[in-house]
Amino acid sequence: MPAQGSPARACALMLAASLVLAAPAFARPARGSPIPNASSSRSDSALPGPALPGPGLAGSALPGPGLAGSALPGSGRPSSAGRAPGLPAAACAVFGPLAYGGCPGPRMCPAHGGCAAEGPPRPARTAAPREFTVVATGDVLVHGTVAEQARRDAGGRGRDFRPMFAAIRPLVERADLAVCHLETPVAPLGGPYRGYPLFSVPPQVVRALADTGYDTCSTASNHTLDQGEAGVRRTLAALDRAGLRHAGSARSRAEAAAPTILDVRGARVAHLSFTYGFNGIPRPPGKKWIANLLTADAVLGAARRAREAGAEVVIASLHWGEEYRHRPSPSQVRLAREILRGDEVDLIIGHHAHVVQPFDRVHGNWVAYGLGNLLANQGADAGPKHESALAHFTFERRAGAWRVTKAQFTPLLIRTTPRIRIHPDPPGHPSHRTTRIIRSQGEPVPRTPTPDF
Ligand SMILES: [Zn+2]
Repeated sequence: MPAQGSPARACALMLAASLVLAAPAFARPARGSPIPNASSSRSDSALPGPALPGPGLAGSALPGPGLAGSALPGSGRPSSAGRAPGLPAAACAVFGPLAYGGCPGPRMCPAHGGCAAEGPPRPARTAAPREFTVVATGDVLVHGTVAEQARRDAGGRGRDFRPMFAAIRPLVERADLAVCHLETPVAPLGGPYRGYPLFSVPPQVVRALADTGYDTCSTASNHTLDQGEAGVRRTLAALDRAGLRHAGSARSRAEAAAPTILDVRGARVAHLSFTYGFNGIPRPPGKKWIANLLTADAVLGAARRAREAGAEVVIASLHWGEEYRHRPSPSQVRLAREILRGDEVDLIIGHHAHVVQPFDRVHGNWVAYGLGNLLANQGADAGPKHESALAHFTFERRAGAWRVTKAQFTPLLIRTTPRIRIHPDPPGHPSHRTTRIIRSQGEPVPRTPTPDF
């Protein structure tokens, strides 16, 4: 798949230089996403949505709320630059941000699309890592008032979404792999911008996600096709420009067939993304590969292809469930059981409900059924629709296999006054509801203290 010209060339140059300077410890990412063959489903989603029904959770025996944060994974290890072993620091310093693919690890090298055409991932030759951390967050849903906040934050010139994410940046940046979910397509620069029901949002939000520290974004959602094929192309081009990897939609059959695999401290991690449907919008004739429709078989098939391409860990972002319902739907539970039954998928990260849903372990693997809205504005009385979770997972390699050995979370809150901002575990907001919901399946998931994260 052709990537943007100059970054791709820069990548090739950096790649060659990097190999000379640091032949060991280099794994190149593949890109794109695998795709199922299922047909489009008809379903709907009213995003600004009706008044929220009560949580309606069955009372489950919960471990004591308000757990103090436990010792943090990744603490005691270098963050950011230090967490990418392999390429000599001097080489990274010399080539800096141009070193796409040259400096190992998705943070140093945003697994830029420009490297895609150069071949399948290569095993690292240095000592294998034993641990890495993953952060994942909820829906990024740019309602009109969110876009207006970005305009004000930019001083009326363009759009700047970075201030809205600023408070979570330290949490996102520190993870070895940070995964976001971009629910909507982006518009051309300058608009026109649209909100619900057919979103077309300011493209600057993508740059803000990259600047916040994300490495890869899932793009399969019920809004993926809101602006048709052009919207998919624009969105993926914006992600490429920002140096973000992506999964869930594609511009070509070849791109769809190439798994998204990231080098995370030397571990090869695949990111998959699927959605339950497209709000009734059919995929273009002959182009079912444009966006991934969720079935257990489709996810398992994509996971197997990713492993054949070299992935050691597979993370699936699933857009599923019932909006505004905390309790996982029967369909979510069934899919989680089917997808996590074998060794294909290691972790499920859920979106779409726009409220927090529980974390659980299914066949020994973790599923975060729904992380809520990371960024949205669903009104002054949004309540749970403005509460979300930053999920944090630690993978460890034991006996040759990677497994999640710790799952934790930080409650997040969107405040809309005096400005729209995301607040991690904000003072004055006890976040008891989020904590209770996340633990409602009986897993005593620790709540991570913000400052020490
Ligand atoms: Zn959705």
